[in-house]
Amino acid sequence: MRSGFNGTIVELIRGDITLEETDAIVNAANSRLAGGGGVDGAIHRAGGPEIMAECRKIHNGCPTGEAVITTGGRLKARYVIHTVGPIYSGGSSGEEEKLQDAYRNSLALASSKGLRSVAFPSISTGVYGYPVDDAARVALRTVTEFVKTDKEITLIRFVLFSDRDLQVYSDALKALSASL
Ligand code: ADP
Repeated sequence: MRSGFNGTIVELIRGDITLEETDAIVNAANSRLAGGGGVDGAIHRAGGPEIMAECRKIHNGCPTGEAVITTGGRLKARYVIHTVGPIYSGGSSGEEEKLQDAYRNSLALASSKGLRSVAFPSISTGVYGYPVDDAARVALRTVTEFVKTDKEITLIRFVLFSDRDLQVYSDALKALSASL
């Protein structure tokens, strides 16, 4: 499914983000940039050791909601943008704001580097436990708000890892488009 917002395409697909050919892919990292399981582990495995070598040079890591950029190593994507989503603990601890920050700061970083296309995984909805339907609404609202004022990014692709996640994001995108 794809929709246009202010000249930017927002696209939803099911797939493996490590295979994406967008200018950057986004990693759902942890604040120490230490690698790990889930999409983080998959990106480091596929991209090779150059990515971790650059992460180690970022001495303060990456606080929740912020974003940093490294090479894409062996990936087809030239860059990996590492962002850290919130750990979900009930929803009243600022999780929504932190998830918004993660998407917004990733896009702002991509835009500041002149990148045109960015692929996101479903940040925080794996090990970090954010309910996927809520996270999908936040993610899609945040990126469509961002492109209202941005002039660089022309494609934002969400690469969902399961049919169910793709369905949930598709329903959220339909609802968002209908409300505009
Ligand atoms: P978090 O710690 O932010 O919750 P996870 O990596 O645990 O991050 O999960 C985030 C999402 O990424 C989950 O929906 C998971 O299924 C998905 N995921 C795992 N591997 C991949 C991959 N190779 N490509 C795209 N999405 C992936």
